[in-house]
Amino acid sequence: MSGLHFDVVGAEGPKAYFGRMTVDSLAHAYLFAGAPGVGKKTFALRLAQSLLCEAPASAKDGVLGYDGTCHSCRLFNSEGARHPDFLEHIGILKIGDPDAAMGFYEGEDLTARDLVRQLSMQSYSGGLRVLLLGDIDFATHHAANALLKFFEEPPRGVVLILTSATPGRLLPTIRSRLIELRFPLLAQAQVREILLQMGYDQEHAQLGASLGQGSVTRAISALGDDDETLRSQIAGWFFRVVDGETPEEGWASRETLDEGLEVLKSLVRDWTALATAGDRAPLICVDYASELRALPALAPADAIAVIGKLDDAQRLARTNVSPAMVSELVRMALTGKG
Ligand SMILES: [Zn+2]
Repeated sequence: MSGLHFDVVGAEGPKAYFGRMTVDSLAHAYLFAGAPGVGKKTFALRLAQSLLCEAPASAKDGVLGYDGTCHSCRLFNSEGARHPDFLEHIGILKIGDPDAAMGFYEGEDLTARDLVRQLSMQSYSGGLRVLLLGDIDFATHHAANALLKFFEEPPRGVVLILTSATPGRLLPTIRSRLIELRFPLLAQAQVREILLQMGYDQEHAQLGASLGQGSVTRAISALGDDDETLRSQIAGWFFRVVDGETPEEGWASRETLDEGLEVLKSLVRDWTALATAGDRAPLICVDYASELRALPALAPADAIAVIGKLDDAQRLARTNVSPAMVSELVRMALTGKG
């Protein structure tokens, strides 16, 4: 692959397979199977870019590789632009029952008509057309039947790629027509590399990789849950403080202080809103609505004072003052002793 890229982490098996292929030896339809978050759709997207890249085939590794600079690649790289020979649809294929009274489902974003039209269109650039149906699922068996028509008479020059984490749910009549490639779980170092590419810092990339168990999706969700834990810790601390207790300040560390104070400010804003506008006040912390409603009313003047002290605490938090000291100031502000 002289001067060309194929920027996909892992997926050695699929890379080896497509590395042996030529445009003429490609199958009509593939199924990329594997757990969520192991790179099936990313691979499909990069494969599509490779197949449509204008770089000479002799420069590619099989059919893999793109220059990133040709007209076609620029369409893949720019936000909002779409390559006319590439169609991507993620999620349930909601193709209506042609015999039903309604015909088509409402609100569907890929209809049978769209799909049939896409499959029968001529290539815009005179090369291949690539259709990616990611996380494929069919709303009805009629939806699946629309796809079966493709296999009965596959149009020339179309490559169809389906991805699924649950290939066993596909109709055997569909699955048997697909070339199935397995995408294994990623190694921890590979998850870390992808998270770094996505813009996570070293620390979170490492944490996500160790929690992700081979899946980028799981890694990101674990990192999100971590924030949830911080949020719920702080909310728990807040309600106990307002209740007159002096709970442990476990949430307050150098890393969490700033974010923690933001959570506390939003809780105090909601507390104030409930006191002034009553139960129908629009809340920021909807997840704590019932706890907030159970709080004693906060006088507007006191609310302004508390929010002012939280702002002071936030400024202090950005200095060398110890996190425990800052949270103690917040506790006193919340209990009217600050
Ligand atoms: Zn290109």
